Order: sequence, then structure tokens, then C-alpha cells
Amino acid sequence: MLIKSQKNGPATRLNPTPALHVETAVLHGSYRCDPATLATTVPIYLSNAYAFESIEHASDVFDLRREGRTYSRLMNPTTDIFEQRVTALEGGVAALATSSGQAAIMLAILNIAVAGDNIVSSAHLYGGTINLLASTFQRLGIETRFVDPSDPERFREASDRRTRCWFAEALPNPKLSPFPIVEVGAIAHELGIPLIIDNTMTPLITRPLELGAHVTLHSTSKYMCGHGTTIGGVIVDGGTFDWAAHSERFPLMTCPDISHGNIRWLDAARDLPGPYGASPFLLKMRNTLMRDFGPCPSPFASFLCIQGLETLPLRMPRHCSNARQLAEYLKAHPSVLDVTYPTFGGTVERHRAEQNMGNDGGPMIVFEIAGGIDAGRRFIERLQLVYHVSNIGDARTLATHPASTTHASVPREARLAAGVHDGTIRISVGIEHIEDIIADIGQALEGA
Ligand code: PLP
Repeated sequence: MLIKSQKNGPATRLNPTPALHVETAVLHGSYRCDPATLATTVPIYLSNAYAFESIEHASDVFDLRREGRTYSRLMNPTTDIFEQRVTALEGGVAALATSSGQAAIMLAILNIAVAGDNIVSSAHLYGGTINLLASTFQRLGIETRFVDPSDPERFREASDRRTRCWFAEALPNPKLSPFPIVEVGAIAHELGIPLIIDNTMTPLITRPLELGAHVTLHSTSKYMCGHGTTIGGVIVDGGTFDWAAHSERFPLMTCPDISHGNIRWLDAARDLPGPYGASPFLLKMRNTLMRDFGPCPSPFASFLCIQGLETLPLRMPRHCSNARQLAEYLKAHPSVLDVTYPTFGGTVERHRAEQNMGNDGGPMIVFEIAGGIDAGRRFIERLQLVYHVSNIGDARTLATHPASTTHASVPREARLAAGVHDGTIRISVGIEHIEDIIADIGQALEGA
């Protein structure tokens, strides 16, 4: 199982076969120790450049005839390990790390869409993504057609020959209604349109690529990094989309690319050994959009993401079991009007929750406190253990009252349409002892 990289020296990486369990792959995948120092922790390679062995070596690497590194905007050894471990986590063929979740979404879509094209997206999205799709992409000439995700056929109806991808969040933040990945993925496969799933809220507990999505991506700033220390993103290609069979829809993937010596990305990936060549979708993204826009992670950010990833399989079940217990507590509380939690939904929602997350219900809760906007404010002000922040996915429990913060400037009607009521509270449930979380939320509810 160990690969010896030096004669009689210790192994520096693990053989990828036989496949490791996810819990093991995030600790051991692609790296065992540094060949120079034998250090067991993945080093932070703070190097912008990489020496070439010769002129021929340099031009082979630049022209993608040979695997190798040119410059840290495009690739870095610390980031490589992170990418390979996330690939194992999601069961994909390759990954590309970015400087933020927003950058991951931007690159994934711009990789296949240009002015005049459109994408179809679930209407249930994080607010920042709605801004990106509805405003910024609109200004770039890329139209987003938002559809109600509860009916998978809406995706088919909204698509035409200029539709380049479908986009959705596996567990939308803050709607919390699980996206029908299996049903929409089957229609996407039938029409030859890639389904891209933002899996930020449910790494490990939802595996979109196994359920029928073609590409998955994350804001690693949340659960994946897990400690609220580092902004980052990552895109993982499942390797299941047949770009060649749908070449008319994807000229950017199949026609010669003038910006890279008339390269054809499908051919280039086929001929390039190693992780960079494993996905034509990501090979193109790395060598065009990452090259031109440059939203790469720093090696230090990648190191912190590697640290977070190592304990993700321990943290996610704990986030979810704490969330389930807190949701049950809130449901029975007299000051709580309503609790949104995936396993509390109707038959269809519960079925989708089970399809996507098995026995888990996810790590977040939204609830409605009696007494409207003032009660919401008082509840937040009384919290002692739980932090009042707009972030999610920290190891610590976090609370937000959207009506007085993120949605304060949104007109009331629009705010209500988005599901944000006067007394709506969002809780990103942490991994503290559940009794301490409940005690703090209980005392805050008593005085609200
Ligand atoms: N996707 C989802 C579901 C999010 O919740 C967020 C941020 O909250 C993002 C993407 C954007 O990620 P980042 O803040 O890392 O840019």
C-alpha cells in the first residue's frame, strides 16, 4: 500500500489503490511525509515559482505536454494535497481550490458560459450567490433563469440550446429544503446539461456526485475548514459529463482555444498524466480562468483547509446530531412559533432529505420566535455562549436575526417572500455539548 519514493527511504505517499475510506483518505491521501525532511505534516510551500530542469522541460510543462508546476497562481504543492483530498472526499476525479466560495461559483460557470448564454438555477440560494447570478453575471451578458426547485421539471422547461449548466445548493441556506439532486440529475443527464451542486452546507453527509450531479463545489470557509479561520473555495469534477457527446453545447470545451495555443481541452487532458489532466473541465479552468482572473488560495489557507478536512468526518455527525436535538427542543418550546429543519418537512421533503443525507438532517436550523422583530432582537442580545455573527459552519454555535441584520434594508414584502419573517432566527449549530447549547438558547428565549 505504501509507495517508496526513495531507495530504502520512507514512503512519501500512499498508493491510491486499494481505495481508502473517506475518514482515512482525508488524513493520509496523496501525502505521507516530505521527501526532503521526512516531516509528516503537509508543508506550507511558500514558493511562487518552480525550477525547470531545462528549456525543453519548461516548454513541455507550459504547453501541458508534461505534468509539472509553473507558477503558484495556477498550482502549488500544498494546495495540490488539499485538492486531492477533497477529490477523495467527494468521490470525484480532480479538484481546483479557489480563494473563496464565491470565486468557485464564478469560475465553475464562466468556464462554460459566455455572453448570450444562460444558466438555470434553483431560486433557493445564499444571498451572495443570488447577487452574483442575478446582477453581476447579468451585466456580463449571462442570463440566469431562476426556478422553483421543488418541481424538477422546471429545470427542463426553462432550458434551451444556449443553456450551459444547472445550478443549485444541496441544502439551501437559509431555506433548508433539500434539493432533489437525484431527479434533477437524471433530467440533466437526459438533456446533456451539467448539474453543478453547491455542497457547502453538507460536506460528507451529502455526496452530490454519487447522486447524479456532475460537478460539486464548496465554500470551504464553512464546515470544510470548520473553525471560522479561513475564506476559501473548491470545485470538484465528478468526471461523468460527456463533453464530446454534447460538443455543440460546449464549444469552449471542444473547439481550439486561441488563448492557449489553439489547444483542445479534451485532447490535452487525455494526454496529460497526473491529477491536473484527470479533468478536462478543471484543466481548462486552471489554465484559462485561474490564469486570467487569479483567485487562487494562499498556501497557508490551503494548509488550514487540510487541517480542517482531517476532522470533518468527526465534526459533521456531531453538528447534525446537536442540530437535531436542538430542533426537537425548539419545536416543543412555547415561545417558538415554527421550526424549519429538513426532517420536519412533508413527505416529499423528508424523502429528499433521506435521499441526500441518509439519517442526518443537516447542521442548521431556522425558527420563528413569537413576538416579532423586537423579540428577535432581545433573543440575540441575551445570548451568552452562542455568537451573534452572520457566518455559518464554525465549530462554535452561531446565531443570526436576519430581519435586523442581513435583510434589514430589504423591503418588508420582499423579505417575507424570501422566507425571512420578523422573528426568524437562523442557528448554525456547533459541536459544543448539546446541554450547554440548549441552556443558552433556553435562557435567551425566556427573556425574549
Ligand atoms: N455558497 C454558500 C451556500 C454559502 O453559504 C456561501 C457563504 O456564506 C458561499 C457560497 C460563498 O462563500 P465565501 O464566503 O467563501 O465566498
